[in-house]
Order: sequence, then structure tokens, then C-alpha cells
Amino acid sequence: MMEYSKLAKDLISSQIEGWELAKKNYKDLGNVQVKEVLFDDFKIKVQFNPGRIRSSAAKVDAKTLSERPCFLCKKNRPLEQSELSIIKKYDILINPFPIFEQHLTIVDKNHVPQLLKGRMGEMLEIAKLLNEFTVFYNGPKCGASAPDHFHFQAGNNNFLPIGNELDILIGKYGKSLKSNNCELLAIDDSIRKILFFTSENKQDIEKEFNKVYELLETKKTDSDEAAMNVLARYEKGKYQIIMFLRGVHRPWQYTAEGDANILITPASVEFGGILITPLEKDFVKITKDDIVDIFKQTSIKKELFEALLIEIEQNS
Ligand SMILES: [Zn+2]
Repeated sequence: MMEYSKLAKDLISSQIEGWELAKKNYKDLGNVQVKEVLFDDFKIKVQFNPGRIRSSAAKVDAKTLSERPCFLCKKNRPLEQSELSIIKKYDILINPFPIFEQHLTIVDKNHVPQLLKGRMGEMLEIAKLLNEFTVFYNGPKCGASAPDHFHFQAGNNNFLPIGNELDILIGKYGKSLKSNNCELLAIDDSIRKILFFTSENKQDIEKEFNKVYELLETKKTDSDEAAMNVLARYEKGKYQIIMFLRGVHRPWQYTAEGDANILITPASVEFGGILITPLEKDFVKITKDDIVDIFKQTSIKKELFEALLIEIEQNS
């Protein structure tokens, strides 16, 4: 088996070496300010990262998208950007605007919309090949800044707080659900609503995920995919999927005027425990109450989550 984690890390090193923009942004990442907000059993880190403004403030309406050259299509990528092909269908790229020390974007070679349907098997395969990384997916209305071009991202393992807190969260809030194919747990840690899938067998976990995905599709209220952020990793011989069930795309604070404004677009990274604030004013003023409020709006409502769990068990 090719050592993709090593190949991906080599790609990152050589791009930092040879591409001025990447070099500067990865160097700046070493100096970003971080503060920790403690909850009973987990923490949320707030990272002041000005380089992420283009992503956090990205306009993702159809008109804006159709009028800009797609930055993930090979023909529009910067000349300096190199790629590493994986499972024939995707290119691994360095993310030139990093949140992690090792931050990848994994793009479909074709310009097709952001939609996870039918791709979980590929996501798991990539997670296994890149086993030193956590692979993540942001839905078209859950933080993807290029919802017109399918992509995953990946960051070095154990950078997202939830990666290390999972056992504690399961122990305290985990509820085992009846399921046909793999281990399935629901976690409501008071600010996030999570489904956690795990199995040694790729087909089994994929099948169980797809069942839940299809159930969510029957409940969505608009034409986009049901709202979700999804992490996948391969650890100790097991596939793991962490699925965050989402509410609104952006909190009311995003469009608020004056002092109430907070520019935040919650996505996989935020739900994994790192809140990115591209503006210093927000980094300085954001409080624990704001964080609770933001997660509450952008997570599925508690009563909908509980109804969903009942349906999952009835379907198994
Ligand atoms: Zn494209």
C-alpha cells in the first residue's frame, strides 16, 4: 500500500518551500492567538485566524458562484499548486489558508456539486489511506466555501479537540442505538448533536451511514442536502464517522449590525471544537454564552434530534 500520509506530508513540505503564499500563511499560523473556553467535559478553542476571512465570509449564492472562476478546478488553480492523485477520482492539494499545521483540500477532479450522497465509501477509503489525518466534509449550507465543486478537507489527527474527547463524551452522553450493521451511538453534549458510527468493516459502516443519510433526506425542508458536517478517520483497525446534525447555516450574529455582529461560519472544524474568528474584534469579545447560543442555532433542534433517534431505531 502506498503511504499516502507520508506523500501528503511531503506535498505540504514542498509546497511550503516553493510557494510564497503557502509559506507565508503556514508561518503566520505559528503565531495565531488561541483561547480556550471550558465546558464540563470538553473545550472549545477560539482561533483568531485572519487568513480565513475569505472562507468565513464566502458568498455562496448561485449568482456569485456562477460569476467567479472556480478556485478548485485544475485550470484555475495557481501555477504553484501541485496535486497528489488519490483513488483515481480526487486530487489532494495543500490548503493555502490553513487552520491546522497540515491542512489538505481533497477535490474531485471534476466540477460537480458538493453532495455527500454515494461518496461515503470513498471518504472512508481516503481516511484509511490518509490514516494520520482526519478527513472532513462540509455540506453546501454548512460551511463549504465552494459548494459548486465537490471537496473534502483533511487535517492532522488530534488537532480537533473532539478527537481526544470522544471517549469522555461517549461515557457521559453516549446512547447506544439499535442498528443492523455497525455500532451506532447518539451523543448530545448540550451544545452539539452527534451520531457516532464505528466498525472494522467498511461496507457495514457505509451501509448504516447511508440509511441515516436517506432518512435525513426525507426530512429536509429545501432542495439542498440535509444539513450536516461529517468527520471520518481510521484508527486502531476501525473506521469511525462523526456526524454533526446541523441547523441553520450561519447564526443571527453573522448579519447583526454593530456590536452584536460576530463573523463566524460554523463548519466541521468548529463542531470539532475550534471556532475560527477571522476578525480580532470577535476573538476578543466572544463569550461562553455567545458560543452556546451559536451552537444552539446551528445544530439540529433537540426535539428533532430525539425524534430522529426514535426513527433510526424503528428502522433497524
Ligand atoms: Zn470547479
